[in-house]
Amino acid sequence: MIGLVKACALGTQHLAAYAIINMSIAAIIVAGGSGQRAGGGQPKQLRTLLGRPVAAWSVETLARHNGISQTILVVPETHSAGFETLGADRIVTGGETRTRSVLAGLAALSGSDVSHVLIHDAARPGLTAGVIDALIAALAEADAAAPALPLVDALKRRSDGRLATVPREGLYRVQTPQAFRRELIERALDAARADLVDDIEAVEALGASVVLVPGAARLAKITYPEDFAYVTQLLSPATPPRIGKGFDVHAFGPGNQVRLCGIAIPHDKALAGHSDADVGWHALTDAILGALALGDIGDHFPPSDPKWKGADSALFLSEACRLAAAQGYCLTSCDITLICEAPKIKPHREAMRARTAEITGLAQDHVSVKATTTEGLGFAGRGEGIAAEAVAVIAPRA
Ligand code: MG
Repeated sequence: MIGLVKACALGTQHLAAYAIINMSIAAIIVAGGSGQRAGGGQPKQLRTLLGRPVAAWSVETLARHNGISQTILVVPETHSAGFETLGADRIVTGGETRTRSVLAGLAALSGSDVSHVLIHDAARPGLTAGVIDALIAALAEADAAAPALPLVDALKRRSDGRLATVPREGLYRVQTPQAFRRELIERALDAARADLVDDIEAVEALGASVVLVPGAARLAKITYPEDFAYVTQLLSPATPPRIGKGFDVHAFGPGNQVRLCGIAIPHDKALAGHSDADVGWHALTDAILGALALGDIGDHFPPSDPKWKGADSALFLSEACRLAAAQGYCLTSCDITLICEAPKIKPHREAMRARTAEITGLAQDHVSVKATTTEGLGFAGRGEGIAAEAVAVIAPRA
């Protein structure tokens, strides 16, 4: 049986089907390929898409869904660093083909009470809770289910130099996640060809009942370099980003080190201030608050309050990020410019970027730290203090 279940035909009793018929559903997210066709010098599953690694999008959507009891991320045999922080319950190593990677994910479930599985390509970051709902509902009445879209373009077949029109009625583009009874997909993949590209094909061969549920344009797969721009556009929130700018100055006083963007740098002076006087992070904190139109750092952490005496400015920066999250935003990139004659910034720049990324939750390639002098002019030129400027871009959380 192959039928297209319309979303509108799924009553609420269907959407809660997994609870009623007592399914235990695991999600296997396949990120096992090297992803080199997509370019970028690293696996496409780890490239940053709108502030998050590609694979994190699917892992988070599946992990957040009430119907999914556990998430298993299947990673490449090499390049496994970077996958640990994506939020999957378990990480297993894949094989040399997609089918072997799926089998590795299924093997991780052996001995568990999992009755059904959703198998998803990490390269399709645009998964929604609605698609997962529809798949689970379909499993109440079928052995397997997959999201699919009808073809809208005309289809042609070239043969012997001549074009012929292929009727498109009854043809679908099938996406992932694909949903199965666990025992069925294990049996089907054990018997399948090694070069299988679609798990549904394996269960079709066993005569299983398959239901197609409405797919989504945003479930598009990232395969080639140009797909990044297309998928970024598909997943970009309709609300535009907001931009904030911050500026701060601290004077030098006696001491033997300065703290800039979270890094202690030996110097023959220190920056004077009520907190740790981290001028770079103060400017960034102000930039984030500015983007939120929530006043400035002094409003939130008044220098008159003794509790901020000597405070680590990481507190200010993480509070600004928390305020952004509370308003439904997240920081998506920042650019900090430190203005001084000394100390030299460049040897510490990468450490500053890494520490700023750590506190803000940004990928390091979305954190910029730059430095300039003022050619000996003004207070910075005379070595009386350090100034910093920062720009922050925040965007609605997807
Ligand atoms: Mg300050």
